[in-house]
Amino acid sequence: MIRAVRGAICAENSKESIEARAGELLAAIFAANNLRPEQIVAITFTCTKDLNAAYPAAAARALGINSASLMCLAEMDVPGSMPKCIRVQVLAETNLRQNEIKHIYLGAAKALRPDLGGIMQIAIDGPSGSGKSTIAKEVAARLGLIYLDTGALYRAAGLAAQNLGADLDDEAAVLAIMDDFEFDPKENSALRTAEAGLLASAVGRHPGVRAKIVKIIQDLAAGQNIIMDGRDIGTVVLPDAPVKIFLTASVEARATRRVHELNLLNQPADFDDIAAQIKARDHQDTTRAASPLKMAEDAQLLDCSEMDINQTVEAILEIIG
Ligand code: C5P
Repeated sequence: MIRAVRGAICAENSKESIEARAGELLAAIFAANNLRPEQIVAITFTCTKDLNAAYPAAAARALGINSASLMCLAEMDVPGSMPKCIRVQVLAETNLRQNEIKHIYLGAAKALRPDLGGIMQIAIDGPSGSGKSTIAKEVAARLGLIYLDTGALYRAAGLAAQNLGADLDDEAAVLAIMDDFEFDPKENSALRTAEAGLLASAVGRHPGVRAKIVKIIQDLAAGQNIIMDGRDIGTVVLPDAPVKIFLTASVEARATRRVHELNLLNQPADFDDIAAQIKARDHQDTTRAASPLKMAEDAQLLDCSEMDINQTVEAILEIIG
């Protein structure tokens, strides 16, 4: 019987990357479906238009597939679709039944097939000001993932508690307010102020508040291809996320960026004050008893002190694979 096996993987636009990634994908397809080179009848590859440095079929020949028919085609250029992606369809002679065939989607390309359980969930944690949200938004746009700014929930809860006159040290009072709390994930500039950040940090100390917010976040994330940034995503919210990144930068680098941002907004900014605020928030976030900011054991550390936004995004795409 001839069966068709599908797969996909992402690559960089270089000969080495396209051939290596295509080889990795084929090897995974062959291993998962017990296929040997002589069983392969034909392989069709497609590449998105941003991958043109080499033909992925070279990888098939390198795996000893010499007599099968190989084709490389351009993938349809659908707006918003996953960039830098190699798709493959392998036709092979096999005794496997249709429902025994395993289609293989690796790394970021898992997001293409949520129906196969291939959900791509990426957790980005790190201290405040390390650039998590800017970077996560960009990665979301490049990979077609939903982006969720989890800090916004803590900020919204902190602001609601303050506006309704709750004592932020009183967990029960904050929790009572949260009974009527409905989070609106739309961008809201009132949430992005330094004051809201401190309020977020204050209510985020309470375990009961955290439990409520974590539940809201987990419900929003369930079954979605999503990237989230926060303090406890890899450790508490998505402990099984396939990709976890701890994004950090030195206090100096973070303060320099913040001063620059404020200057662009024509707001006065004193480097030493900003650095002191950053240190204070780091202290509060790392020393609180409930889910303190810490790197998950299986997270990858990325220090972006010396990197610009694009370099950081590229480094993360490299980690995602
Ligand atoms: O990331 P952002 O600056 O918006 O977070 C504001 C504050 O909310 C953090 O300093 C932290 O205290 C809290 N927070 C948290 N857990 C998250 C996200 C934010 O405790 N997952």
